[in-house]
Amino acid sequence: MSTRVALVTGGTRGIGAAIARALKAEGHAVAVTYAGNDDKARAFSEETGIASFKWDVSDYEACQAGIAEVEAALGPIDVLVNNAGITRDAPFHRMTPDQWREVIDTNLTGLFNMTHVVWPGMRGRKFGRVINISSINGQKGQFAQANYAAAKAGDIGFTKALSQEGARAGITVNAICPGYINTEMMSTIPEKVMTETILPQIPVGRLGEAEEIARCVTFLASDDAGFITGSTLSANGGQYLQ
Ligand code: NDP
Repeated sequence: MSTRVALVTGGTRGIGAAIARALKAEGHAVAVTYAGNDDKARAFSEETGIASFKWDVSDYEACQAGIAEVEAALGPIDVLVNNAGITRDAPFHRMTPDQWREVIDTNLTGLFNMTHVVWPGMRGRKFGRVINISSINGQKGQFAQANYAAAKAGDIGFTKALSQEGARAGITVNAICPGYINTEMMSTIPEKVMTETILPQIPVGRLGEAEEIARCVTFLASDDAGFITGSTLSANGGQYLQ
């Protein structure tokens, strides 16, 4: 197995933290980014020994500067996991232009910004893995998430288009669409809503674990996955089948 330099955006908590740990356990040199929660980032780095870097993925110049810093510390980035994402839910008639823009800027333009900066290096070295964390809600839509579903569906289109450009340069580009995952966000959902509304929608009868998404990532990042590109890997317990 080849070990690589991997960067996970939004890797200090939730799914991203599980991805970063799993990539490290595979022997890769890993760094993570985050947006503003310094306490979480410090605790994560102290516990795991994985360096965390703060910048906003929706800011192109910040991505250029941040990636230069990561590469100075770890070396050229071979594996980019675009995981950072936010929600700003509201029914469409109450959705503000700011709620729309923030989600598109982070969850969709963030992929352009990050990938565009590492792409020339991956092309030059003839190897790269770009793994985009989309969502089941980008596949099927979701009430009060016109912004989020649009961005996450955009991530899938981005993945498919870019995979065609990367193929001859040894770069694979894939998307993962998690369903309901047992993260901090989920723990705020009332028990009744969980048992009566959410779980009955999931044929396997439980939420997914962040580590299950992380295993999808470690596979797609591996040399074994070199023939897989432009694909969308659904990990949703059978909740939505395409
Ligand atoms: P969390 O909210 O737990 O963590 C989000 C991470 O992204 C944090 O590290 C956060 O940093 C970082 N982040 C947010 N905005 C930015 C930004 N503008 N620039 C840089 N970093 C940023 O997220 P989840 O683990 O729940 O979700 C991870 C991904 O998986 C997201 O893309 C989400 O849409 C997707 N997903 C999640 C599902 C779920 O059930 N949880 C289901 C389907 C998809 P900070 O801590 O500083 O805020």
